[in-house]
Amino acid sequence: MSEAAPRRLRQLGEVSVSQLRHVGEKRVAALASLEIENVFDLLTIYPRRYIDRTKRVDLSDLSVGDEAAVFAQVQKVSSRRTRQGKVMVEVTVSDDGEAFKVVFFNQAWRERQLTVGVQALFFGKVTDYRAQRQMTNPVVDVIVGASGEERDASRVGRVVAIYPASGKAGLTSWEMGGFVEEALRRAGPLLDPVPASVLADLDLVERTTSFWGIHLPEEMSDVAPARRRLVFDEFLRLQLLLALRRRRLEESASGVRHPMNSDDLDVAPGALATPTSSLVRRFLAGHRFTLTRAQRRVLGEIAADMSSPLPMHRLLQGDVGSGKTVVALTALLASIDGGRQGALMAPTEVLAEQHLVSIRRDLESLSIHDAAVLGGERPLSIQLLTGRLRAKERQSVLDGLANGSVDIVVGTHALLTGDVKFKSLGAVVIDEQHRFGVEQRAALREAGRVRSAEEIDPDLLVMTATPIPRTAAMVVFGDLDRSVLDELPGGRVPIVTTWARSEDEVAQCWQRVRDEVAARRRAYVICPLIEGSERVEATSAVEERDRLVEHELKGLRVGLLHGQMKGPDKEEVMARFRIGSLDVLVATVVIEVGVDVPEASVIVIEDAWRFGLAQLHQLRGRVGRDRTQSYCYLLGDAPSEDGVRRLEALVSSNDGFVLAEIDLDLRGEGTLLGARQRGRSDLRLASLRDDEDLLVAAQAVATSMVSDETLHLEAEMVDELRLFVDDHEADYLFKS
Ligand code: ADP
Ligand code: MG
Repeated sequence: MSEAAPRRLRQLGEVSVSQLRHVGEKRVAALASLEIENVFDLLTIYPRRYIDRTKRVDLSDLSVGDEAAVFAQVQKVSSRRTRQGKVMVEVTVSDDGEAFKVVFFNQAWRERQLTVGVQALFFGKVTDYRAQRQMTNPVVDVIVGASGEERDASRVGRVVAIYPASGKAGLTSWEMGGFVEEALRRAGPLLDPVPASVLADLDLVERTTSFWGIHLPEEMSDVAPARRRLVFDEFLRLQLLLALRRRRLEESASGVRHPMNSDDLDVAPGALATPTSSLVRRFLAGHRFTLTRAQRRVLGEIAADMSSPLPMHRLLQGDVGSGKTVVALTALLASIDGGRQGALMAPTEVLAEQHLVSIRRDLESLSIHDAAVLGGERPLSIQLLTGRLRAKERQSVLDGLANGSVDIVVGTHALLTGDVKFKSLGAVVIDEQHRFGVEQRAALREAGRVRSAEEIDPDLLVMTATPIPRTAAMVVFGDLDRSVLDELPGGRVPIVTTWARSEDEVAQCWQRVRDEVAARRRAYVICPLIEGSERVEATSAVEERDRLVEHELKGLRVGLLHGQMKGPDKEEVMARFRIGSLDVLVATVVIEVGVDVPEASVIVIEDAWRFGLAQLHQLRGRVGRDRTQSYCYLLGDAPSEDGVRRLEALVSSNDGFVLAEIDLDLRGEGTLLGARQRGRSDLRLASLRDDEDLLVAAQAVATSMVSDETLHLEAEMVDELRLFVDDHEADYLFKS
């Protein structure tokens, strides 16, 4: 592989690692276990860190608990048997001053490997044994043999890259480095698919330089620019794929121009609306409150989408309580104004049922023209479709959807599976769905189209209350337009959050519950999260309710809600809590999202550390929904440092976006981006926290390339993108 023309990454992807020198069957297998099959894979396994052999690593800088890579010389070796009969090899190593102990169990051969005078890299965790620092069973790379011979002369006095997970596969970092170096040398110059003008504008190094700089830096200062360029490429590929996906959708779309007039959005309650006004106008003119500025702005964005011939694909982000529901209803009404139907999907049946109640309350006074009924007018028809409807009810809703006599259907995601057919589905709103991936959204759109007798792509609005940092949203929701409700309806009082740790504080917490109930308000108690077992969780919720009724909450009317209850039972409990015939609701996390009972003013979260930060914020958002002071109590100690930070963050901030940034910091982007799979897994070096500028730049370049404005999507770039999508998707995305 050494002809003259610069190589493309995809060509590297076609060269098996077995073609490298020293890579035989065993090493092919070892590399395969690290998911390295070809030279491209190899070159995109990036060093975890570097050891600057131009400078010595100082042993005295190490502290207990550090993961360290120490370069040192063997001073003394001995071996003995422990009382348990294990062979223990004890090696004393030192750099120029400090001595350090390295211990191996059941690796008798180390005594022969690490003879006095050998210089090696030791990777491992620094532990404390009898007040002395040591490493146990570290990974070892011998660098200079006992007689002083360099194992690889090219690395003397150089920066040495340390590769990840090499110990596990039985490959030393040293060997990995050797393969990478050989691959780079034999690959020769690499083709750069990014135009030189873009590189110059963004001050990015050339591709070949970037691969050498990250793997074989001459100096530590080569690494940062190399990394910047590689990160940019990762973001660029991802953004290109998202932009292409979007463009294909737009090309194949048969969207609807919904009649949506922005004048109708500017009406305040009490404004003039006649029976011939649009539903949107009549709804807003007859509503309980004036829209916040943020709601009005977002509705303007939605109106622009809905009245355009392209189907809307919009994400609406708004913190809990920011008033997403009224926005959703307005969008659904715009679809009905155009003679079509709307669907609202909630993540759970409980929420779907609750939505139904509040939507009926808000919309039941509206009537619409229908030539098929006597008098030509009928009330808006809003129906529930969930798995637990009786056959007859279900059939009647299905008939209504098929013949158009049902205007709005509320349900779970099951709405767009199975036998549901619409006369003409114009708009779909998905509530509280940040866990939905790109593929699932695409499937939903597809389903929306094929389920409608009129073959159209419904406008889609995805709503989430889980604030996602901007960078993460650009990656996860890069195929959607974004609107943000960044303002809470006026008059809200910030929730007071307390982490109750002492006995006194806990007693105060329960007293608060009793006081609030005495003042005719209501309380939630959230039971501990028990991973993986809804049944055990339910049992513990039952026990907790029984205990509370006997002790802290004696005399109060306490209801129970958990995931193992039947639908009608859940609904009944919720209804009783809503109207106030229950004072306290002891619940598992089933109430996490969307439950709206404005009179609830206290929430107690037991074993709070078990919940994620976003989830805690969601739970807390169940209170503070009107103008009275609300309280959130977090119970339980946090056994982990992360747990402590989560709870402290929650106490210190009510702002979902601030918490989202902290969450990203705590969890890292991996969890946020969800399962890593090829295609989306291209982000190996990029950090959503540190590389925001590059992400923004890459998005701009991608947009320009795909829209063919100042930049063009050249064949070389398309060729590279093929590495990250399967053939089926490539056919779809890259057809000219
Ligand atoms: P979200 O779904 O975004 O968490 P909701 O739509 O449930 O929020 O709204 C939260 C509460 O705020 C509801 O009780 C709702 O009636 C009320 N609300 C929404 N918009 C306004 C507004 N503009 N003025 C006053 N109250 C509002
Ligand atoms: Mg909501």
